[in-house]
This record gives sequence, C-alpha cells and structure tokens, in this order.
Amino acid sequence: MEFKDLQLSEPILRALTDKGYTTPTPIQAKAIPVILEGRDLFAAAQTGTGKTAGFTLPLLQKLTTLKPLGGRRQVRALILTPTRELAAQVAESVNTYGVHLPFKTAVVFGGVGINPQISLLRSGVDILVATPGRLLDLLNQKACTLDFVEFFILDEADRMLDMGFIHDIRKVMRYLPQKRQNLLFSATFSKEIRELAAGFLNNPASVDVAPPNATSDRVAQSIYRAEKHEKPALLAHLIEKGEWNQVLVFTRTKHGANRLAERLSKGGINSAAIHGNKGQSARTRALADFKSLDVRVLVATDIAARGIDISQLPHVVNFELPNVPEDYVHRIGRTGRAGSEGEAISLVAGDEVSYLRDIERLTRQKIPVNETPSGFSAPPKPSQPDPDDRDDEAPGGRFVRRGPRPGAGGGRGGSGPSRGPQGRSSGGSSGGSSSSSSSRGPQGHPRPRH
Ligand code: AMP
Repeated sequence: MEFKDLQLSEPILRALTDKGYTTPTPIQAKAIPVILEGRDLFAAAQTGTGKTAGFTLPLLQKLTTLKPLGGRRQVRALILTPTRELAAQVAESVNTYGVHLPFKTAVVFGGVGINPQISLLRSGVDILVATPGRLLDLLNQKACTLDFVEFFILDEADRMLDMGFIHDIRKVMRYLPQKRQNLLFSATFSKEIRELAAGFLNNPASVDVAPPNATSDRVAQSIYRAEKHEKPALLAHLIEKGEWNQVLVFTRTKHGANRLAERLSKGGINSAAIHGNKGQSARTRALADFKSLDVRVLVATDIAARGIDISQLPHVVNFELPNVPEDYVHRIGRTGRAGSEGEAISLVAGDEVSYLRDIERLTRQKIPVNETPSGFSAPPKPSQPDPDDRDDEAPGGRFVRRGPRPGAGGGRGGSGPSRGPQGRSSGGSSGGSSSSSSSRGPQGHPRPRH
C-alpha cells in the first residue's frame, strides 16, 4: 500500500513526497482509513511507529472538508500531549504535512510566557496543540474557545495519566462540544487507559500495531552488569570503544542526569542533561546540539525524554533501569525507529536486578548479558533497591507506581519485600501488564542468571 491509495488530497500527498515518504507505516495504514471514515479511534502505538502522521494526515484531510465558519479562524482540532517537547514536535509535524494547506497551527505549553500565546490564539488558529495545564490557564483567561472543536486527540494518553493529568484532561473536555470525533493514542492499554477511553470514546475502532508492551525487533538489547560506582567509567569506556557519536542516556533522577553529564564532559565526552528543572530554552538548545551532533551524549530523565523525536538514534543506554517496567519499553523505543536499526544497553547494578526481572516479564524476553569488560567488576549479589534512586521527576517520587493504594493489598508494585529480590513469591509467567513476582523468567523459562 502507498499513501496515494489512502484517499488523501493532493496537497497532503505533495507534503509527504517532499519528506520522501511513500509507504505508510502499519499504524498509518490502519488508522488513516478509520479516522477518515469519521469514527472514534483507540490506538495502541508507541513513539517511533509513525503515529503522529497516523493522526495528523487524516486530521488535515478532514479539516479540508469542513464548512468554513465565517469570521475569524476558530480552533477546530485540539491535540493534547503530555510534554512540551512532544507538543512542539507534534506541531512541527502538523506544519510539515500541512505545508501546502491554508491552516494555521498554534502550540501552547507551560514554562514560557503566556502573553504571546494569548495574542496568538486571539489572532485565530485552526489547529491547537497543547499541554493540559497551560491550556486550562488560557481557557480561564478566555484566550480562546473550544466551542468549535470537531476533532479531539489525546496523544500518549498513558503518559498523561502517569504524569497526573487526568483531572486537567477532564476539565478540558468540559469545554468541548458534545459532537466531535475523538482519537486516543497510547503506548500501553492499561486498565486506567481503558477506563479513560470508555469515558469519552464513542464506539471506537481499535487499532493495535504491536502487542502492548512489545519491544521492537529492530532494537538489539543487552545488559552489562555493573557496580554502581563504576557505571560512569563503564559508560565512558563503551562510548569511546564503540565510537558512539549520538547516545541518549537515561537516569532516574534529575540530579543524577546533571552529575553524569558533567562527569562525561570532564572526561572529554561532550554531554548535556535535560530534565524538568531546566528551562525550556536550555532544553531546546540541548536537543538541537544533540541532533546536530555537537553534543555526543544527551542524559535525560524519563519525563524529559518523552517525545524526543530523533530519527535513527543509534544508541540508547539505561544508566539506571527504570523502576516502572513500561518505561523501559518507552525508553528503548527511542532507537530503531521507523525502519532503522538501534542498540539499547542497560547497566544493571545489584540492586536493580528486581527491576530487570519485571522488565523481562513485561516484555516477555530474556535480555542477553554482555561480558563485563576487563578492568570492571560485575556486582556479586542482588541487593535491595536504594531509596536514594527514587525518580525525582514524578510528584512525590516514583519508587513504586500504579500500585494499589496503601491498604488495598496485593497486586503490582509495593515497596515491601515482595518487590525486592528477596522474598519474591513464585507466580505465573503470563507477562502482559501483570506484575506478580515470579521465580521463573519470561515464557516460564528458569529465572535468568545475571
Ligand atoms: P512518530 O512515531 O510519530 O514519533 O514518528 C517516528 C518517526 O518516523 C518520525 O521521525 C517520522 O517523521 C517518521 N515517519 C513517520 N511516518 C513515516 C513513513 N510513512 N515513512 C518513513 N518515516 C516516517
């Protein structure tokens, strides 16, 4: 199938040709016809699958068929994203694919002055890309109306919930007219996501391009076991030895991201850190320097890295494993994107072995272990997670997430012994989003030795 078989108009096809895209990705091939038909959509697709064009192309097509309202332009499509970076990138895509169309797009997010955004909205826009908090501020200030919205898109809905945006999303929805087409994109289909979807999607078509929580075959994943204090030196060694020019490195904390970037830079490996404490302009600059290869290593926390779109990113390193296994899938989704090969390496200390088990259960695979390079030592025994490694980007830290409320008992997460390497009970090997501990590895194989 080619884009020209998808009922898209000539200006859109021309924009695709400008970009050199001829063949839709699987999510595009499935989602575009459904959206053009006018149906609500519930789509499971992670970043890197081409999902942005998957909703942007049919959205632009549908907008061309709407009756003009007369008078000033009004927002007719609203796209909500969890982060500023993603909002900016989605808006960039809308502009790219809509370059030969007359629509005006605006992107609004927090962390920058609100007044220019108010002026922009008052001047009239057709497509609005926004993060929820800033949009609510703007709505409170009556900077725009959502009365004319016909298309409402929630992008990376799972991340929105993780970041605590559920109330803001619901508040935004109260400003929308009843009759509209809704699209929800999420990397995972958790219970919370299904509940959210059930609340506002109308008889949606469901599109799923990869089994939820699957990792891409194009990403070669492996592990180095490492002593915590040796990780910076080991990372520097791998970068130098492998002659990696563009490496995205994940840390769990903002502080850790800064420290690591400074340390690598001091050792002659030009690095920058991005996280929630950095101002928008610093983040944009770091990302631009990384894209242009002026910065060799970008160290990021999960939240800051969300939505970073760099095609053909060759190397992703988990300097620390995420304590939420789904984040591993998101992280390594940064490499091996849209057809290119990628490599994802994780440095695993003794106190991270339980996280590794959770990741292997979720992704239903055993991640191969590399030999420890000479001069470095592998940790002797699993130990308890270090509370200082709590994720400091999430409200209240995120040592454990999505677990039952205190007192609810059982289930996922829990900071008690059931989560640590000791005291793990035996359980099934069902994978998926279940998180009961298991003495056996994915697929019921004996527990992998690391
Ligand atoms: P996304 O999943 O939307 O973040 O897209 C991932 C990357 O794939 C972006 O760099 C897109 O520009 C690129 N992309 C999207 N659609 C296609 C396509 N049909 N062919 C090749 N690359 C694409």
